[in-house]
Amino acid sequence: MTVHMFPGAGCDSNIFLVTGTQPILIDTGSGLRSSKIIKEIGEHTDHISKIILTHCHFDHAGGASELRKCFNAPVYIHRFDAAAVRNGLIKETAADMFGCEMPATEVTELQDGEIIDTGEYQFEIIHTPGHTAGGISLFDRSKQILFSGDTVFAEGVGRWDFPTGDLSCLKRSVHKLAELDALYLYPGHGPCIKGSAKSKIANALMYVEGF
Ligand SMILES: [Zn+2]
Ligand SMILES: [Zn+2]
Repeated sequence: MTVHMFPGAGCDSNIFLVTGTQPILIDTGSGLRSSKIIKEIGEHTDHISKIILTHCHFDHAGGASELRKCFNAPVYIHRFDAAAVRNGLIKETAADMFGCEMPATEVTELQDGEIIDTGEYQFEIIHTPGHTAGGISLFDRSKQILFSGDTVFAEGVGRWDFPTGDLSCLKRSVHKLAELDALYLYPGHGPCIKGSAKSKIANALMYVEGF
């Protein structure tokens, strides 16, 4: 099991490198610390086959343009969040809240149910809208590993008051994740959870259903 977490700092989300014969990067941070991130990634792998964005927000996707060029790796994002990144839209990506520009980045569109294969892990793309319309989670059923972006954290859920956010969608999405048999939870911010992911997600569901 080789998931390397580069913990979020400053404007950056958590960034994850999943190694294997076809390593993938999940989220890229804002791009404001890209040279440090690129150096750290280089300590674990010399290539990346795909960059997957959990959603379009600047703190996750701002670095995609530079990392794509550096590793010559295609960037994938759910089709509902694709236009925001492709066109570098500052409102939809919330780059304006950080006082930054969002670099326009070429992306390939993902759909619910697609499989991303690293050679060691088979991640199913699960569409989890609510924080944004095109938010996704990635789940390996046999290894019980869940990457949840800003849908669910170790404590609580993502905000639903950004552009394209929606509380009732978020409730349905958290419900969907609560039904998975997740052991490991790797969220977009804060600590990861090893072993008790399912009960943490159940707590998050209780919390969000209170709204
Ligand atoms: Zn975030
Ligand atoms: Zn977000």
